[in-house]
Amino acid sequence: MLCRSGCGACCTAPSITSPIPGMPNGKAAGTPCIQLLSDYSCAIFNDPARPKVCSDFTPEKYVCGESREEAITILNNLEDFTCTSNISAKTRKPS
Ligand code: SF4
Ligand code: SF4
Repeated sequence: MLCRSGCGACCTAPSITSPIPGMPNGKAAGTPCIQLLSDYSCAIFNDPARPKVCSDFTPEKYVCGESREEAITILNNLEDFTCTSNISAKTRKPS
């Protein structure tokens, strides 16, 4: 699918661990990227400093859903499911 204009869900919901210009430690889940403009486009889209994780991300229906709101929900769930601390909590055996 083509990336939906005016969305920016993937620049807000997930955490990013690689450095972003202006966010040297990456960003926390739910925090809008500092490079996300008010129209939800990326200020550094064609800049080589744009994180590889961003350029590698491909819009897919199962992640992007039908709307920005749906994408935020899906990405929040994925973040929750793949968060390292949650994984260790989920897989920890009761003592
Ligand atoms: S969540 Fe999908 S549709 Fe929305 S900005 Fe990201 S890639 Fe584009
Ligand atoms: S650098 Fe651009 S594409 Fe990557 S999260 Fe920030 S706004 Fe989105």
